[in-house]
Amino acid sequence: MVYQASSARYESMEYRRCGRSGLKLPAISLGLWHNFGDTTLLDNSRQLLHRAFDSGITHFDLANNYGPPPGSAEENFGRILREDFLPYRDELIISSKAGYTMWDGPYGDWGSRKYLISSLNQSLKRMGLEYVDIFYHHRPDPETPLEETMRALDTVVRQGKALYVGISNYPAELAAQAIEILNDLGTPCLIHQPRYSMFERWVEASLLDVLQEKGVGSIAFSPLAGGQLTDRYLDGIPADSRAASGSKFLNADQLTADKLEKVRKLNAIALRRGQKLSQMALAWVLRGDKVTSVLIGASKIGQIDDAVGMLANRHFTAAELAEIEEILM
Ligand code: NDP
Repeated sequence: MVYQASSARYESMEYRRCGRSGLKLPAISLGLWHNFGDTTLLDNSRQLLHRAFDSGITHFDLANNYGPPPGSAEENFGRILREDFLPYRDELIISSKAGYTMWDGPYGDWGSRKYLISSLNQSLKRMGLEYVDIFYHHRPDPETPLEETMRALDTVVRQGKALYVGISNYPAELAAQAIEILNDLGTPCLIHQPRYSMFERWVEASLLDVLQEKGVGSIAFSPLAGGQLTDRYLDGIPADSRAASGSKFLNADQLTADKLEKVRKLNAIALRRGQKLSQMALAWVLRGDKVTSVLIGASKIGQIDDAVGMLANRHFTAAELAEIEEILM
């Protein structure tokens, strides 16, 4: 059956301006790092994208290496895009990235002009797109001159292969330098994509202030700490969860007694607020005005519904924030 997007899709989502750009992003964006590779049923990936778009989630985030195997998330997304989303292409913000290992040899990793431009060409082919909306440098490269990497980002915009560019995982000071170089080149940095959650707060020290001051947006990845900031692990490790999947990014060792104790206490506050912990954790990342969008992952459509449901209750009292702070200390 041909996919027909819900006519109510723009009714409940909030769209937030990304820095001082003309672009607005949904308060919740969907990442395709997990659950879109060849090890996932294509139909499940398809349902997740349908549910997200039907809920007003207009931004899908990819990278060259998402899978497994690397590249397969872009291929599978490209297929679903072709089959279901082509009539909606201009309603979507699609991003990709390069910066981690993608192919053998000296040109398939890090931040050279050679790697970035050839990788974006490959990503466009895999997704069947003429351009991505946002192209990121995925992580800083300690060897390549920052000017070369930023010039490559400027080039892909001038070539029409990306509408905007961003950086990811850059520490505050390097981010400030990259933003200045891009400004000088005439291609402003749209956005920074850092990891940020109740359990991972490095951005608060200086990055978020730098971005705000320079008019650059931010999209927080892994806002649920990969699922730890949900009720998923309160009674053990479910067989269908990320922690049981053999992931090197989340495993049983990380779910320490101390952490689970914190999760239980946070869960109690969330329940008192009449929401799920996952919802409170997302609302917490969006508190204040410094984060443009939370970039979630999902393995089930109910998880997308949970995220969107957060919007109905996303403000905190000072007492609630203090109580949360006490737990996170
Ligand atoms: P999250 O912290 O949102 O974790 C998502 C996982 O949490 C889901 O896959 C699911 O795990 C679990 N979950 C989600 N909602 C619920 C719920 N309501 N109840 C219970 N469990 C829930 O984000 P990710 O770590 O997946 O990262 C999100 C995106 O961020 C990626 O897809 C990618 O686009 C981007 N990213 C960017 C990086 C970078 O370097 N720039 C690095 C990492 C991510 P389960 O599978 O167990 O159901």
